[in-house]
Amino acid sequence: MRRLLAVTALVAVAVALAAIARGVHDEPRLGGAETRGGGAETRGGGAEARGGGAETRGSRAEERSGGTRAGAETLGDGETRQGGAKTHGAWPRRARRRAATPRVLWRSSRAVGTHSHGRLVRGVKLPVRGAHFLTWDPVRKVTPNRWWRRYGTDELVRLLLRVTRAYGRTHPRAPRVLIGDLSRPHGGDFGRRFGPLGHVSHQNGLDADVYFPRKDGEERAPRSPAQVDLRLAQDLVDRFAAAGALTILVGPSLPLRGRGVQPWPHHDDHLHVRLSAQPGQGGA
Ligand SMILES: [Zn+2]
Repeated sequence: MRRLLAVTALVAVAVALAAIARGVHDEPRLGGAETRGGGAETRGGGAEARGGGAETRGSRAEERSGGTRAGAETLGDGETRQGGAKTHGAWPRRARRRAATPRVLWRSSRAVGTHSHGRLVRGVKLPVRGAHFLTWDPVRKVTPNRWWRRYGTDELVRLLLRVTRAYGRTHPRAPRVLIGDLSRPHGGDFGRRFGPLGHVSHQNGLDADVYFPRKDGEERAPRSPAQVDLRLAQDLVDRFAAAGALTILVGPSLPLRGRGVQPWPHHDDHLHVRLSAQPGQGGA
């Protein structure tokens, strides 16, 4: 009997201990779970906050890159400072997206020297894109082109905007025109150190590369003459010739003709439009 009591007591103690242990164990676990839950929430909040931070960081980075771009432009070009800053930095993102018409800081430019040995004074930057054109980086093979490869005389930039607008309105279903390199902010050497092949000319803001439209409608440079939509390409050539281009260089594999058209190596994917060094005498 005493033994039974002892066993019962032991069992009771064991049960009690177990209960206490469970309780002790459970409570913190519950608490811990809550805490962890809270922690998770906090972490969630943190993540949100971090997300917010990322957004903030993103917009800040954008601002920064905008600032850098504006700054870099400033480096290239003292007078663009305000325009550059206004276009990239201070402009709200939504407004930037809404802007259908490209903003251009127009200045009266001067082409100095020759196409292959010259420089550009008060160059005008072609916008990164417009309703009827995109810019194309021939080195990275992406759109858009980098800002410092897009400077020309005001006359050249006007001609590019005018021709691509008229072309785009005539062919609303055609891919937008891809415009490649013009000149550097102050012109000068645009040779191999700026990318494979580089340019012999493109030195005084009077040359621009314009890629031929593709049959498949893709807004990328064609990779072979077979990909070129010859009907649209000829129309582009005709428009640049009519607009007063001095010379239009085209690839020797393409049957494109017109006033000022010359076959030239490495131009099977684009035409090279050149204006005369004398303003207003582009057709001479
Ligand atoms: Zn060219």
